[in-house]
Amino acid sequence: MKTVVFIAFCVSILAACNSATATKDKDQKTKSAATMKADSTSSNAEMNTPVADAATVFAKRQVPVLCYHHIRDPKPGQSETLKSYSVSPAQFAQQMKALKDSGYETILPNQLYNYLVHGGPLPAKPVMLTFDDTDEEQFSIGYQEMKKYGFKGVFFIMTISINRPRYMTKEQLKQLADDGNAVESHTWDHHMVTKYQGEDWEKQFVKPRKTIEDITGKPATYFAYPYGLWNAAAIPQLKKAGFKMAFILSTKRDSTEPLYTVRRMIVPGQWSVTGMMKAMKQTFHLD
Ligand SMILES: [Zn+2]
Repeated sequence: MKTVVFIAFCVSILAACNSATATKDKDQKTKSAATMKADSTSSNAEMNTPVADAATVFAKRQVPVLCYHHIRDPKPGQSETLKSYSVSPAQFAQQMKALKDSGYETILPNQLYNYLVHGGPLPAKPVMLTFDDTDEEQFSIGYQEMKKYGFKGVFFIMTISINRPRYMTKEQLKQLADDGNAVESHTWDHHMVTKYQGEDWEKQFVKPRKTIEDITGKPATYFAYPYGLWNAAAIPQLKKAGFKMAFILSTKRDSTEPLYTVRRMIVPGQWSVTGMMKAMKQTFHLD
């Protein structure tokens, strides 16, 4: 409580310092109080709608979120595991077309957050397309294919890979962001969040977010857990690092932290387009 009072005091001093007209102590005090009142009124007006509690967020209808890694043709003898993290360019094209033909419209994390927290609007059939791990073909194939349908994607970047061979460059990330896609954080080097301690939080949460924001010039306040794995220790650290929402895979959400356990479904290369559409409806309990 003392800290809160102290911070309020500091804010009022700062407000006063910014005021060129505050010349006397008494005037200064009156002016700063007025400024603070005005500030709090305007920030309430910005929010406009109440903030939903965890139970309300948890009870909301889920939005299907698809997760892609590689968009590559399978090589002979490729393992089933690798296949499950890859779709071919032809499959990806078919899937985008099927989503469009079925009336789906892509949304971005800001819109999902606004829906979950403030009850904001969604299209009749929303879907989120997410891409993990910075692969170059997500730009050269995925993004180009999505553009045909006016779709936007969410690119979760591990910052260690930027500018490396077969990964996206800074310029490509900037272009994605400039074109209205979301470029977000997927740690520095893809280590499992459940193993973090000490300086890892700074290294994996705080710094990568800044790296991405420096590249795109836009906020990067959404996070995807590597391997979809999370633990209770990570959530306060994500909040501290400025993340508003975090994505798991198609495991169980946490009822007390639904914003930090938003589900996604990997689309494996073994699925047909019909299988993908069916799995999406089942996984996210769509009508
Ligand atoms: Zn990943």
